[in-house]
Order: sequence, then structure tokens, then C-alpha cells
Amino acid sequence: MLTISDLSVSYGLHRALTDVSLAVSPGEIVVMLGANGAGKSSLLRAVAGICKGEKSGRIDLNGKSLVGRKPDEIVEAGIAFVPEGRGIFGALTVWENLMLGAYSKRGQSGRDKNLEWVLELFPKLVERKDQVARTMSGGEQQMVAIGRAMMANPEILMLDEPSLGLSPLLCRELFGNLSHIREMGMGVLLVEQNAKQSLAIADRGYLIENGEITGENSAEAMLKDPAVQAAYLGAEATKNN
Ligand code: ATP
Repeated sequence: MLTISDLSVSYGLHRALTDVSLAVSPGEIVVMLGANGAGKSSLLRAVAGICKGEKSGRIDLNGKSLVGRKPDEIVEAGIAFVPEGRGIFGALTVWENLMLGAYSKRGQSGRDKNLEWVLELFPKLVERKDQVARTMSGGEQQMVAIGRAMMANPEILMLDEPSLGLSPLLCRELFGNLSHIREMGMGVLLVEQNAKQSLAIADRGYLIENGEITGENSAEAMLKDPAVQAAYLGAEATKNN
């Protein structure tokens, strides 16, 4: 279980996160909603050990502190991160990207099983295995990015706006895939602008405003919450609910 307690992040004089506390258990999808600049990426980057800001507070995985540990040690501990913009190696093939995802001891130990899962989830990657990643479509690159993260055999998978730039059809496919990942027992911490579709597959959600958690509830309750509808779901979604 990932537990974040009283996490604050500052960049110089700018406070990006203030006393943020949240938890993600294996087998659940937790979505974090917030406007641009609310601090969502800072939170994920702090957990992944790649946040440039000054940090205070606790980040624990199964009771063991991750604070101050290097990014590769955090992957080894069981947390994988798909950053905004995907972070795949564009010049390498699909296969090479997936194999790089399994570089950790943790990834190596279950490599064949993980590969089987990834290819079951994204069968298209089998036929595209020798394609250079940068020549793939946005949706295909997102599959490579998620597949690569899963090759690290994580307990918790964090994704920063994975639906950005994807067509409505590909968004549906992406959120469907995240549901399958939960069924495999991984915990998913998802930062999304696409509130309606992400809450539809999530178990719980948090609202973050100006670096502070301002709401927390089951995804079902959040979808019905008029304040959430007004701020994140838009008039269209409100009409449909
Ligand atoms: P978005 O949805 O636009 O990606 P976000 O909710 O992910 O936004 P962050 O990227 O975490 O927000 O940024 C939170 C605040 O911290 C913003 O005001 C941003 O300008 C600032 N910030 C983020 N990274 C840095 C940095 N490396 N140096 C200085 N300020 C930063």
C-alpha cells in the first residue's frame, strides 16, 4: 500500500503542495482531479523520486519510507511511473522499450510472466514489436509506455494524464485497459483531466486545488457530486447524469 502523509513540495518560494495525504491500495484505481497547476504532477514526481522541488512529509510503500531514495530504488521497491508525454525511448523499438522496462531486479524476476500480461493487454504490440517507437501513433505509444512500466512488475502504477491527445475511441480503450490492470492486482494512481471517464473506472478520487486536497470520496459519489460536476465534468456531463 502506498501512503502519502503531509507531503509538501516547494520550488523556491512557490509552494506547489501543502500537507497532502492520500493512500492507494493494490487492486484499486485512485484518480486525482485538479486544474492546471494544482500540483498533480509534482505529487507523482515526488513519489517517483524525480521532483526537483524541496520536499517534506512521508511517502511510504508497505510501511517503508521512499523519501530520499533514488528513482531506480523506488522502481525496485514497486512503484512505476508513466509521465505526461509518455517518456518512451523514441529511437528504440517497441521490444527494446519493453525490455528496458524490465531492467530492475524486480522486473527481471517475473519477466516472462509480465511480458505475457503486457502482450495479452496490448496484443497490437506483438505485431509492432520491431517498429521504432517514435513512428507509432499517440495511442500506440501510450500502450508502449504503460507496457514498459508494467514490465517493472510494480505494485503501484502511477500515470500522469495518459489520455492526453488520444481520440475518444482510444481513450475508451485506455481506460478499459486500466481496469484490466487493476484486475491483475496492481494499484493505479491516475492523474487525469478526463474526469468523466476516469471516475467511471476508478474506485476512489481526490480533488486537489492550489496544492491542497480539498475533497475525497468514492468515484461513484464524486460523479454525482454537483460541485465536481460543475468544476470537472462540464455541463454536458451534468445533463447526462
Ligand atoms: P498540469 O495539469 O498543468 O500539468 P499540475 O497540476 O500537474 O499541472 P504541477 O506541474 O505539479 O501541476 O505544478 C504545480 C505548480 O508548481 C505550478 O505552479 C508550476 O508552475 C510549479 N512548478 C512545477 N514544476 C516546477 C519546477 N521544476 N520549478 C518551478 N516551479 C515548478
